[in-house]
Amino acid sequence: MSKSILVIGAGITGVSSAEWLRRDGWEVTLIDRIDPGHPDQTSFGNAGLIARGAIIPVSVPGLMAQAPAMLLNPNSPLYLRWSYLPRLLPWLIPFLRNGNVKKVTEIAAGLAALTNDSVDQHQALSAATPAAAFIQTGEYVNLYTSKADYDADPLSSSLRKDHGFDPDYINRAEILERDPNLGPTYTFGTVYKDYGWLSSPGDYVAALFGHYQSQGGHFKRGEVADITAGENPSITLRGGEKLTADKIVLSAGAWSSLLTKKLAPKVKLEAERGYHVSMFNPNFTAPNPYMITDSRFVLTPMDGFLRAAGVVEFGGLDAPASSAPVNLLRKQMKKVYPNLEFEYDEVWMGRRPTTPDSMPVLGESPAAPNVIHAYGGQHIGLTIGPRVGRMVADIAADRRTNVDLSAYKVDRF
Ligand SMILES: Cc1cc2nc3c(=O)[nH]c(=O)nc-3n(C[C@H](O)[C@H](O)[C@H](O)COP(=O)(O)OP(=O)(O)OC[C@H]3O[C@@H](n4cnc5c(N)ncnc54)[C@H](O)[C@@H]3O)c2cc1C
Repeated sequence: MSKSILVIGAGITGVSSAEWLRRDGWEVTLIDRIDPGHPDQTSFGNAGLIARGAIIPVSVPGLMAQAPAMLLNPNSPLYLRWSYLPRLLPWLIPFLRNGNVKKVTEIAAGLAALTNDSVDQHQALSAATPAAAFIQTGEYVNLYTSKADYDADPLSSSLRKDHGFDPDYINRAEILERDPNLGPTYTFGTVYKDYGWLSSPGDYVAALFGHYQSQGGHFKRGEVADITAGENPSITLRGGEKLTADKIVLSAGAWSSLLTKKLAPKVKLEAERGYHVSMFNPNFTAPNPYMITDSRFVLTPMDGFLRAAGVVEFGGLDAPASSAPVNLLRKQMKKVYPNLEFEYDEVWMGRRPTTPDSMPVLGESPAAPNVIHAYGGQHIGLTIGPRVGRMVADIAADRRTNVDLSAYKVDRF
């Protein structure tokens, strides 16, 4: 009889894990309180970028000094709900401390090991499934107000180059040749080849899930209230129902920390909240995804709409969405595409699961066996989801993974 496994959380991480485990012969039950592809998942509303080269964490040298001014600047994409600060501090202090050259260099290596083949990993997971139709491939362009702006961050450029992400440079004339609609603010660009993006991230997750179910994968609707590790691991759903299996995977995104207290009490995970504005039926679209570097958001051409997604807001899991980040994205879009018109827009807030060192948590804690942790994808959780899912299947089968797991250890905090 095949071994059984419960996967908690059906965002990109959980669905990818469940599907790779199913292909490996496990009897898999995926559990979520909502359907995969639902707007309450972070996997629904992201920028859709398969961000192979996104290996630089948010906390970099200088952030600690700049953060107070950024928080006061209404045009900066960093927000804090001040009442949340006391609860944020145990996470924020190590997060800011990690913004030094040595640590950022280590983090870039740890993330590159997960991102470098991410387009291939998405293609391998979705091959011969309806999800494959959502994967687009092409170039990714970072837009700068000047070459000096690009030159002002030599650490990021040199780390990217060290890991094989060496862009071509384009000037204003070349930018306009590729995209005549871009506003005058952007005069310099870097072009990364062999990128990927999704034309509808929520539909992609739903399509992967549909395939998993059609091949015999199970789904249970419910909210997990408790996890018990050990010889016979189990979960208890809100309402009291108990489910047991040979192994459990915890992949509940930013909510995972609520379930780690008995398993790995020191895990530090914060909801790094972000926003999108999706502009439907625009009068033109973008030729490729852009990083708008001065405003720090990604603009992606999607299926019938353009999506601007970004912003970092600290305010916890449960606080309602704020209006200021959305207004800022709308204002910045006018700078990018002054002549853009569209029928209507939709706005969204999601929660990136982020650790203080920006590395995911991946593996079992020796103190709480048979529970595999898989969360913490921060700004690149969509990118690395299929790769993480494949590694979860390796860990469950006790196979050696082709990436050294020590950087992602559960007990590192
Ligand atoms: C504005 C923005 C832009 C982004 N852009 C990109 C991008 O371009 N590229 C990229 O790679 N990443 C991007 N990200 C990050 C990425 O979206 C996330 O890292 C990723 O979606 C996390 O996936 P997940 O499966 O871990 O979590 P989620 O998608 O949040 O899924 C977690 C699931 O767990 C379920 N759950 C939680 N608790 C329980 C419980 N107790 N019981 C049952 N179910 C539970 C939830 O209902 C949810 O369905 C972006 C994020 C934001 C906010």
